[in-house]
Amino acid sequence: MNIMNETIENVSTMLKNKQISSVELVKDSLSKIEATKELNTLHEVCSESALQKAQEIDDLRAKGQDLPILAGVPIVIKDNISMVGTFTTCSSKFLENYKSPYNATVVDKLLNAGAIIVGKANMDEFAMGSSSETCAFGPVHNPRNPEYVPGGSSGGSAGTVAGNQCFASLGTDTGGSIRQPSSFCGVVGLKPTYGLVSRYGVVAFASSLDQVGPITKSVRDSAIMLDTIAGYDANEFTSAKHSTEHYYENSFKNSVKGMKIGFAKEFFESLQNQEVLQSVMNAIDFFKSNGAEIVDIKLPHINDALAVYYVLSSAEAASNLARFDGIKYGVATTEYKDLIDFYVQSRTQGFGKEVKRRIMLGNFVLSSGYFDAYYNKAKAVQNLIINEFTDAFKQCDVIISPTTPSPAFKIGEKVDNPLEMYLNDIYTVPVNIARLPAMSIPCGVASNGLPLGLQLIGNRFSESTLFNISDYFEKNCFSLREVK
Ligand code: GLN
Repeated sequence: MNIMNETIENVSTMLKNKQISSVELVKDSLSKIEATKELNTLHEVCSESALQKAQEIDDLRAKGQDLPILAGVPIVIKDNISMVGTFTTCSSKFLENYKSPYNATVVDKLLNAGAIIVGKANMDEFAMGSSSETCAFGPVHNPRNPEYVPGGSSGGSAGTVAGNQCFASLGTDTGGSIRQPSSFCGVVGLKPTYGLVSRYGVVAFASSLDQVGPITKSVRDSAIMLDTIAGYDANEFTSAKHSTEHYYENSFKNSVKGMKIGFAKEFFESLQNQEVLQSVMNAIDFFKSNGAEIVDIKLPHINDALAVYYVLSSAEAASNLARFDGIKYGVATTEYKDLIDFYVQSRTQGFGKEVKRRIMLGNFVLSSGYFDAYYNKAKAVQNLIINEFTDAFKQCDVIISPTTPSPAFKIGEKVDNPLEMYLNDIYTVPVNIARLPAMSIPCGVASNGLPLGLQLIGNRFSESTLFNISDYFEKNCFSLREVK
């Protein structure tokens, strides 16, 4: 039995029954990380602290303590999430030496549940990208085929789970960064409702869109992770006062009978890849033949969501990244003429090309004379999109779409064409713009041997519904874990 291939659910039972210790599990995880380090999924491996924590968990268990389900399980977090004792680089040269001064709320929650954080995952620089190639420490490779990208920006987080280096990871999703890499790597990714998971201690990209969420090997594991990290946080002013739902206990009904699944033709009009189309159509047929009803809905403005996203996210990024000036944060230049030159030189040397592109775009759309034409207009279209989803959810429980327009592409294939890169997010960004939850689950394999993903979008705070339908699909229609 290859233990690293197991789910949290299974290893947690084994830990409880003392068939394996947490120290053994962490050692297995660290050896797998070492053996596959050329994937470049991790920037930092926390061997010492992980082994120490695992020993503590084993000791508690030996004393007969009843521990949470995550206790003793190796987990990875994305490198834009602060954790004391680690660097938080956001895969940027600018923050190469930046040490986390405090724990993000999600880290405290994981540690309180006894999870063992074994490493910090590489990502696109400051979470800007769709391929993990803008990472300042080299590109991340897709464990299913290292010549291909793992997606981004949480490419390291998805790759470390798909590569069986750990049992689950945390990513962040501003426009698709959990779902798109999960789809490319053949794992399960959840972008929760905006506000459900605290952003405290997570480096901001676009604060009104950013959301932390789990990447796992199974849907049920995703519910376990969400139970652990969700909840109101007084430290974070956009945190939602939403009561705890006990997703793992309450979501799974093992039926989709009577469920209404929304089909918006706007999601499919521009789709050219026949394999992607076919895999989603197969899923629709499956749900239909298992008692779900397919309902036609209209989302006329979702194809404008990408333009809205790149205006709003870049505007917010330009403001958020202003703090990285070489004084408050970041690597300082040693040669400069005056203060302004110091800022310019530090930022020029510290940021990569894509980050600079976003800062310039963001400052442009915020500048006087253009603010109304771009920023305010994008905000107005955002409202239209929100209203369209609100209307759609009066007719259905979930909405179905592909996660991405294609399977993973080769490393280097799209780096010189930003527009083509941005088009990767065409199906994922409307969800962030409307602040909704959505999951990506594997739904097929393309002829290049790489996984395809299905996106299921829910109404605000309907994560339970997403877990139920996704789990039903994973159990009864398609799972990559079995074909592997
Ligand atoms: N790929 C998108 C971008 O580059 C989304 C990134 C994200 O969700 N963090 O902006």
